[in-house]
Formats: sequence, C-alpha cells, structure tokens
Amino acid sequence: MGRQLLLDKVNVAGINTYDVYRKEGGYRSVEKALKKMTPEEVLEEVKTSGLRGRGGAGFPTGMKWSFIAKPEGVPRFLLCNADESEPGTFKDRYLMEKIPHLLVEGMVTSSYALGANQGYIYIRGEYMYVLRILEKAIAEAYQNGWLGKNILGSGYDFDLAVTCGAGAYICGEETALIESLEGERGNPRIKPPFPAVKGLWQNPTVVNNVETIAAVVPIINDGGAEYAKIGIGRSTGTKLISASGNINKPGVFEIEMNITVEEFIYSDQYCGGIKNGKKLKACVPGGSSVPILPHYLVCKTAAGQDRLMSYESLADGGFATGSMLGSGGFVVYDEDQCIVRNTWNFTRFYHHESCGQCSPCREGTGWMEKVLHRLEYGHGKMEDIDLLWDIQRKIEGNTICPLGDAAAWPVAAAIRHFREEFEWHVNEPVRCLEKNYGLVAEKVFEPVTA
Ligand code: SF4
Repeated sequence: MGRQLLLDKVNVAGINTYDVYRKEGGYRSVEKALKKMTPEEVLEEVKTSGLRGRGGAGFPTGMKWSFIAKPEGVPRFLLCNADESEPGTFKDRYLMEKIPHLLVEGMVTSSYALGANQGYIYIRGEYMYVLRILEKAIAEAYQNGWLGKNILGSGYDFDLAVTCGAGAYICGEETALIESLEGERGNPRIKPPFPAVKGLWQNPTVVNNVETIAAVVPIINDGGAEYAKIGIGRSTGTKLISASGNINKPGVFEIEMNITVEEFIYSDQYCGGIKNGKKLKACVPGGSSVPILPHYLVCKTAAGQDRLMSYESLADGGFATGSMLGSGGFVVYDEDQCIVRNTWNFTRFYHHESCGQCSPCREGTGWMEKVLHRLEYGHGKMEDIDLLWDIQRKIEGNTICPLGDAAAWPVAAAIRHFREEFEWHVNEPVRCLEKNYGLVAEKVFEPVTA
C-alpha cells in the first residue's frame, strides 16, 4: 500500500469525533495557515502541489483558485460539491462518513486562501445520513473555535453550513449546484461568466469537490513540494478510487497515481483480482461517463506500455484507445457481462438525469435509450448500431453542460470496442436474451481481441 494522506487515520476508533480527530493532529493546517501564512502563501502551496480537481475534470486547483475575482467589498464563497452521483463513484461519501472533520478543516483552510468568509457543503439528497454526520462535525468545529468569528484570534471569520440537494445528478455540475443553492431549479448556466466571476448570488465563487478540499489539509501540513513528489508527471499526490464490479474486494482505496492498473486490479492490497476466477472483459476506470476499455487496453496502452492509474496514462491514446481517470469510479466487468445491457443501463441514467434545457441532450439521450433497449431486448436492426453512433456524435460538444458528453462517450466507446457484441444482439437475439437473463448458462460470446 502506498502513502495514505487522506485515509491514514480512517481506522482509528472515534476518528469521526472532534476529540479523537484533534488528538490525531486534526486542524493543524488551520493553525499553520492562519498563524503563519498569508492567504497568498496558502494559494502558492496548493499551486506547487500540482493538485488537480478530484471531481472528474482534473483542472489544476491552484489555477482555479487564482481566477477568483476580488472586487472591493464583494463577498466571495467556497462551495464544496458533495453531490456525488456518478454511477460507480462513492469515494466522497466514504470520506465524509468516516472523517468528516477532514472536510471541515479543508474548508476553513481553503476559504482562508480565497478570502471567502462563507462556505457551503452541498450534499446529495440520498446522503441524508452523511448530512447529519457533517452537521455534527460543523457544530463541534464551532464549539471549539475553528469556525465563526476571529478564528484563533487571527481576525479571520468563516461560517460554514451544509445543505442537501433533492436527488438530481445534474446538480453536481457547478453552475447547476449554484442555481440549486439559490433555491432555483438546478439548471446549468451558460458560461461565461464563470463562477469565479459571477457565482453564488452573482458573487465570486469557487466550487471544489470533497476530495479536492480534503487534500488541501496534507498539502498545507507537509508543504506543496512534498505532495508533488508523490505520483507521476502532472498526476501528483494520492487519489481515492471507488472500486466495484466483478472483483474480490470492492471498496474505496487511496492510491499513489504511479501504480499500474494491473496491480490495482490483481493485487490483494486493492481489488484482489476478478471474482470467481473469471477473465477480465472490460473496465470503466473513471465513473460511468468515461469511455469503457476492452480487456486488452485495460492494463496496457495501445503502444504496449503498462497503463498507470494516472490522468495521463488512462487517457493515453485519446478516446480511440484510452479513457479517463474521471471521478475515480473504477468498475470492472468479467467475461459474463453484457456490454449492450451495461450501455443501455448507463444511457437510461443520463436520459433520466438530463435537465432538458438543450435538445441534443434532452432528445438524444432518450433516442439512445430507446435504440439500446430494442437491441438489448431482441428487436434491434443492424442499422440501429449506426443510428446510435450518429446520435452520440450529434450530442457530443453541442450542449450547455458536460452531461451531454457524459452520455455520448460511453455509447461511442461501447460501439468502438464491442461492435461485434452489438451485432450479435441483432443476429442472435434469442440466444442473447437467454444468456443475459440466465435462461441458459452457456457462454456464447467471446470479447473482441486485439
Ligand atoms: Fe441540461 Fe443536458 Fe443541456 Fe446539461 S447537456 S444543460 S443536462 S439538457
């Protein structure tokens, strides 16, 4: 197991309480920042660390912070995006549930760097029990002087509240989150202006993911340069991965981003190999919106290099032969899983979650769902595969927010790498139905090989 910066204390009894968290060194980053550093110095440390947004896009956090507008007398806000809803992704829930004070501490330190005096944690409605955990942690932080007026006698004031969404995936998009927080329908805004200039109530706002904000704590404690030594290239530090699917040890793992995908899947420290001794068929490495990789591109790149669990290596080859680290939702499929069924399932999700503002997304996701449904249930035609390809092409890049792309990419990658399986659904619908719905145990499909 590599270095653990976020989960190192996760197994300490009572680490979810203030007393134990503090005894284990909690809130040191706030002390250091407020007593010994200027906000600009905190920002510089984050820039030096190379930290990239852990919500999916991987944008450099320090650079994002530096964009925040600072007009005189105008309040600034830090919003924590805890609306974790991407299928396959559950790392933020784990972090907030187990070590809630790590997020509260990260919010104080990060807000100090931004000059924000008010922060909100926006959590998805389905995480109601985690909301209660966070409320308790925030109350404890107020009681012990880490939130409120004149924190540590520094003259810095910071108030923090947690609020919950109503179960819409789209509210994880930063401008939809802002709309929702303002009490409006969670529709993404057209950008520009960006939230750094006009965000919450038209004030300068930074929106960061839970893990991103938590990572600021070890960065300030140990220094940005130390953080940057971990990992590889521009993939610095550690990353939380939520692993699920046909593996022996599903769960949340903190990895250094220079380990190989092969080690991550097969090592007992992580996923522990494919369940029931079956063969690997495919992998979605970064949540449902990223392209699926067929087995021969999971552990090796198209150029034959070992594939690493890093932003760059997982994307190696572009979408033709690569994928994305995304939100770290790592889903493994064994040889018995049906890619058409999985693609239909993902598409149903995106159709359901489309906010409906733009036609390519609103209509296109519905069409894709219908076409995939008829392919899956034995009514498909060969032309449907090209129709699907055509629809996803017309969605990608033609929408207000990234949900359109997120719906298009999985469909494109599934057809690109598993076209033979789509054709099999057309040519042998009965055998396909039998296999997928357990009527016969016979294995009738071999995945495409290189
Ligand atoms: Fe709404 Fe989809 Fe357009 Fe995003 S892409 S704004 S979710 S309709």
